[in-house]
Amino acid sequence: MADIKLYFSEELLSWFHIHKRTLPWRQNRDPYRVWVSEIMLQQTRVDTVIPYYERFMDRFPTVTALAEAPEAEVLKCWEGLGYYSRARNLQAGAREVVDNYNSVIPDDADAVAGLKGIGPYTRGAVMSIAFNRPEPAVDGNVMRVLSRYFCLEDDIAKPRTRIQLEHLAKSLIPEGAAGDFNQALMELGALVCTPKSPGCLTCPVMVHCQGRLVGKENVLPIKTKAKPPREERRLVALIEGSGSNVGKVLVRQRPETGLLAQMWELPHLLEEEVVQEGKAIKTGRGRKKKDTIIEESSAVMGLSASPDSGQMEQLGRGLAAETGLLIRPRHRWMEAEHIFSHIIWKLDVFLADFGFVLKEKEIQQMQYETLLQGGLVAAEQKAEYNNFETAPDQLFSGYAASETAASVSGPEQQEVPLPAGYRWIGPEDMRELAFPNVFLRILGNYWSERY
Ligand code: SF4
Repeated sequence: MADIKLYFSEELLSWFHIHKRTLPWRQNRDPYRVWVSEIMLQQTRVDTVIPYYERFMDRFPTVTALAEAPEAEVLKCWEGLGYYSRARNLQAGAREVVDNYNSVIPDDADAVAGLKGIGPYTRGAVMSIAFNRPEPAVDGNVMRVLSRYFCLEDDIAKPRTRIQLEHLAKSLIPEGAAGDFNQALMELGALVCTPKSPGCLTCPVMVHCQGRLVGKENVLPIKTKAKPPREERRLVALIEGSGSNVGKVLVRQRPETGLLAQMWELPHLLEEEVVQEGKAIKTGRGRKKKDTIIEESSAVMGLSASPDSGQMEQLGRGLAAETGLLIRPRHRWMEAEHIFSHIIWKLDVFLADFGFVLKEKEIQQMQYETLLQGGLVAAEQKAEYNNFETAPDQLFSGYAASETAASVSGPEQQEVPLPAGYRWIGPEDMRELAFPNVFLRILGNYWSERY
């Protein structure tokens, strides 16, 4: 065992010195540069990260520059890279360095581990690459390589296995070469010992690879499957402005905490199930295609005439109940998909006209009606809505039946105060506001079709 460990470390290190890629974060060992690169590289391919990394380092060249920047600017610089909590945590960590360590990232594993957003892998990567400390940096790539080389059949999804592999990785680090060795392990996993087809014939440690010797290089590592992400169908309103807002669309900012916190988006809501003859069905069409633009109808359709009328009505009612925003969805425009680690959003996007904003009492009526339909308001709140004089039906159906799209929008809409967090934007505003990828794609399609 000692022999194959020594062989592994020596051969891998020699291979790395010849074959390592030239990457922007390898220009020097500045701990801040290492830290940023390691955070960006989580769940993201090297090729994707490079332009983001260069832009980010141009804009925030030091830990102080990052700490002092407005969060919206950091998010904008991160826009498109996904997993935005990484950007927020990175900035929070930078602020901790400024406040607690005089703007110098400490050469201390415990202190680095205590910074916001730094887990065992990033701690090991920063300590070894920047400070050459013998700390293991074990991610998915490294677990795969070690499982194969040592023919380990423990489930790498289990925390206990990860800890065992961290001990093993630490024991392999050659003296004085922690940074290069850890990068060599990652590089082997990225370039040679790849997930689907390991390139054993070009592998520097092939001769003693235990997994390959017993023919298990394509079976290892063992990893139990994570629960598949939950699918959510969401109805999205692409609300077009008119009058002084012509050429603009209505967007809103997400709450300060939670999923995609503080990013901008089109108004949308979760589609409810409709119960029909005792059987739950979805009102959506269940299409599978990603980012499909639906051929636009030239006619403005009434809600009752469209095959999508159920979804459009739900969208109109839901937004009114949630924020008081009264809109008229016109027709389906496109479909898109956004994959998070635990959820998949299936988005049905509807073009819509802006109507007006309901008053407080009208919002409550709309919520009451939505409640009666099993919609957005929690059942236990029902008692609060028992005293309305006007039948909630009249509020929306009156609007839907009697108003035309043109008459509910128009120059007067500039006077209408919007719900909190909402604003009209044109294409030029996209340079400032940070949107999740899926809304960037939808709005990109929209602007390119319109202009
Ligand atoms: S020989 Fe094959 S399985 Fe073994 S470490 Fe190299 S690439 Fe991976």
